[in-house]
Amino acid sequence: MNVCVIGGGASGMMCATMIARKGHNVTLYEKNEKLGKKIYITGKGRCNVTNATVGDEFLKNVVNGKKFIMGAITRFNSNDTMAFFEDVGIPLKIERGNRVFPVSDKASDIIKGLERAMNWAGVNVCLNAKVERVLTQEDKVSGVIVNGKEYNFDAVIVATGGVSYPSTGSTGDGYEFAKSVGHKIIEPAPALCAIIVKDNKECERLEGLSLKNVTLTAKLSNKAIYKSEVGEMLFTHNGVSGPIVLSASSYINRLDFSKLELVIDFKPAITFDGICTRIDRDIINLKSKQVSSLLAGFLPKALVPVFAKRLGVNLTMKANQLTKENRKNLANLLKNYVILPKSLENFNSAVVTSGGVSLKEVSPKFMKSKLVDGLYFIGEVLDIDALTGGFNLQLAFSTAVTCASSFDNIIDK
Ligand SMILES: Cc1cc2nc3c(=O)[nH]c(=O)nc-3n(C[C@H](O)[C@H](O)[C@H](O)COP(=O)(O)OP(=O)(O)OC[C@H]3O[C@@H](n4cnc5c(N)ncnc54)[C@H](O)[C@@H]3O)c2cc1C
Repeated sequence: MNVCVIGGGASGMMCATMIARKGHNVTLYEKNEKLGKKIYITGKGRCNVTNATVGDEFLKNVVNGKKFIMGAITRFNSNDTMAFFEDVGIPLKIERGNRVFPVSDKASDIIKGLERAMNWAGVNVCLNAKVERVLTQEDKVSGVIVNGKEYNFDAVIVATGGVSYPSTGSTGDGYEFAKSVGHKIIEPAPALCAIIVKDNKECERLEGLSLKNVTLTAKLSNKAIYKSEVGEMLFTHNGVSGPIVLSASSYINRLDFSKLELVIDFKPAITFDGICTRIDRDIINLKSKQVSSLLAGFLPKALVPVFAKRLGVNLTMKANQLTKENRKNLANLLKNYVILPKSLENFNSAVVTSGGVSLKEVSPKFMKSKLVDGLYFIGEVLDIDALTGGFNLQLAFSTAVTCASSFDNIIDK
C-alpha cells in the first residue's frame, strides 16, 4: 500500500516506522524544516520519553480518553517503548516517579532514534512539506495536497498534534482535515498549564513564592472534582503554577470558571483539630509575642501579611489577644486557603491540548476513522491527554503502533 503520514512528531515518526517495517511504501510529510521540533523541548530538553508503569497505574494518569486508549496502551506499553529506543541505539534510564529519559539527557537523541528507525525501515521523509488538504472519493481517502500538488495514497494517517506550543508546528491543521470530512472536534482547551487568578494583587505580593508539601483541591460549586497529591506549587505575577497546579488545570479546563475555586491545604499532614491544638499551644509558648511570630511558625514569610489581611487582624497585635474565632479562622485558612481562578494560561504555554478529534468517530482498535475509509488519527490530535511524567508521549507511541497494526493483514494478501 501507499501510505501517507502527516506530521513528523512523536506519533507520526513511530507510526511511519512501524508501517514501513511491514513492507508498505510510507511517505511522511513534515511542514517544518526538521523533524520532532516539539520533542526537542520536552522534559526541559531532556525528553521524558515514557513512564515505566503499565495497566491501571498508567491509566490513573490519563485525564481524557481512558477507555478509548486502554487497548492501545496494552498493545504497545512503556516496556515496548523502552525496548524500541534501546534497539535503535538510544539507552534509557529510569528516574524518580518512574520517569524515563535518555541516558544522555538529550531530547535530540530521542529524535535521532526515531529518525534512524525511519531510515532503516525505508520511510520516505519530506521536509518543508505542508499538507493542505486530505482528498476523499466516495467516503474513501484518495490522497493529499502538499505544497499545492496532489498525491495519491491508499491510506492517510493524521499525526499533526494539537495546538499547544504552536511555534513547534502544532497549529491544529489536523482538526481542519478532520472537519473537512465530517468529523466532530471537541473544543480544544489548554491543559497542563498555569492558572490565572482573579485577585491579581495578592499574587503580585506572593510572586516567586514556592510551596512544598501542600495539596490543591479544585471545587466546582463546592464539590471536589480534583484533589492533588502532596506536592509543589508556586505563585506567579498573575496566578499559580508548578506541578500540582498543572495537573489541576487538566481537570478544570472544560468547566465553568465562575463556579470554580481552588483550595490550598498548607498542612495536609495535620487535621483541622490538630491545627487548632497547635495554635493554642504556640500562643501559650509565645507568651506576649506578636501575631506575626505566631504566623511565621506556620507559614513562609511572604504569606504572613497576606494571612493577617485575610484574617482581619493586625500583625503587631499580641498573639494571646486573638479571639477564639480568630484562632478557628486561622486554622481554617491553613487548611482551606481559597483562590478564585479567572482563566487558564493560553496555548502558547500549555504543555498539551485537551480536546480534538472526537473519539466517538474513531475506532480504538486501529485508530481508524469510522466515517472515511483509509483515514486514521493518532497522537495529540485525538481527544486524549494525560498528566506529566512521560504519559503523553507514551499515548502518542501507543496510538501510533496500534494504527500501524491495522496494516498487518493487508500485506499477507
Ligand atoms: C514544553 C513541552 C514539554 C513536554 N514534555 C513532555 C515530556 O517530557 N513527556 C511527555 O510525555 N510529553 C511531553 N510533552 C507533550 C508531548 O510532547 C506531546 O504530547 C507529543 O509530542 C504529541 O505528539 P504528536 O505526534 O501527537 O504531535 P506533535 O509532536 O505536535 O507533532 C505534530 C507534527 O505535525 C506537523 N504538522 C502539523 N500540521 C502539519 C501539516 N499540515 N503538514 C505537515 N506537517 C504538519 C508539526 O509540524 C509537528 O511536527 C511536552 C509538550 C510540551 C509543549
